[in-house]
Amino acid sequence: MRILSGKELSERVEAGLKDEAVRLAGRGVRPCLAVVLAGDDPASHTYVRNKIKAAERVGIRSIDKFLPASVSQRELESVIAELNGDPGVHGVLCQMPLPLQLDPERITRLVDPAKDVDCFHPENVGLLAMGQPRFLPCTPAGVIEILSSSGISAAGKHAVVLGRSNIVGRPLSLMLSQKGMDATVTVCHSRSQDLERHTRSADILVAAIGKPEFVKGGMVREGAVVIDVGVNRIADATKKSGFRLVGDVHFESVAPRAEAITPVPGGVGLMTIVMLLRNTLAAARERGPG
Ligand code: NAP
Repeated sequence: MRILSGKELSERVEAGLKDEAVRLAGRGVRPCLAVVLAGDDPASHTYVRNKIKAAERVGIRSIDKFLPASVSQRELESVIAELNGDPGVHGVLCQMPLPLQLDPERITRLVDPAKDVDCFHPENVGLLAMGQPRFLPCTPAGVIEILSSSGISAAGKHAVVLGRSNIVGRPLSLMLSQKGMDATVTVCHSRSQDLERHTRSADILVAAIGKPEFVKGGMVREGAVVIDVGVNRIADATKKSGFRLVGDVHFESVAPRAEAITPVPGGVGLMTIVMLLRNTLAAARERGPG
């Protein structure tokens, strides 16, 4: 059984991105990512902090717009419009979830598609679905990068994706089935019947459902590749924080059956951020100087 570490891979990819940022600087382009965060959800603050830190590590300038939980739709829209119009900003993302009074779909549609480094805008999702992506959505791209860098081919294999969210499951299922990846894909969701029949037939099983340690050893075929996208906080009195992170996969029972498996933490999560940085550099390269 192999542990597919996101740590070493993300460090390797980051090093390449650093070189790219230097090359862009040589052409007079200073890549810049703007991150908008409304409210005070602690997990969102941690994600945003990590994104900003990683951007700085590779030489991407960052702008943060921290807005109060009471921000109005109009105020938030004007912040996004301002960033859209700023030629020095190459990537714009608005951290989800938003406070309840705000309309996330309107915000997603408002981000300039050329700066939509999360790849959530309908135009970019459409391009992805057609196999002509402008950007690749970050978490699914991280999964694909882990597979390809580990020499795991999806071609002709049966990939089963648990979860059909717009952020992970659905775009990942599109990417796995596209020419070049060539997997035969089954997408499962909360209304799927006989889930175990599907999971046990997977050569590659991806769990993205947000249910702590849901996938148990008995649900996995001997020799499968298991990718755990889940990040769930569970209470743990032995930790200073009072919680620990677990995936959607019960690692102890699944790992012995798997040919390869990603850990949580230290797996897909680390790749998500570097894929965001890769998109930001691509946006800066596309725009060029001035
Ligand atoms: P989400 O929007 O809540 O979607 C969950 C999906 O799982 C839905 O499609 C839901 O089905 C399906 N589902 C729920 N319970 C199920 C069950 N018992 N059996 C089969 N399917 C079930 O979640 P998400 O945003 O995709 O995130 C999923 C997980 O990935 C979470 O743990 C999240 O924290 C993590 N995540 C990690 C990263 C990273 O960087 N590593 C990034 C994003 C998300 P329905 O559609 O029928 O409701």
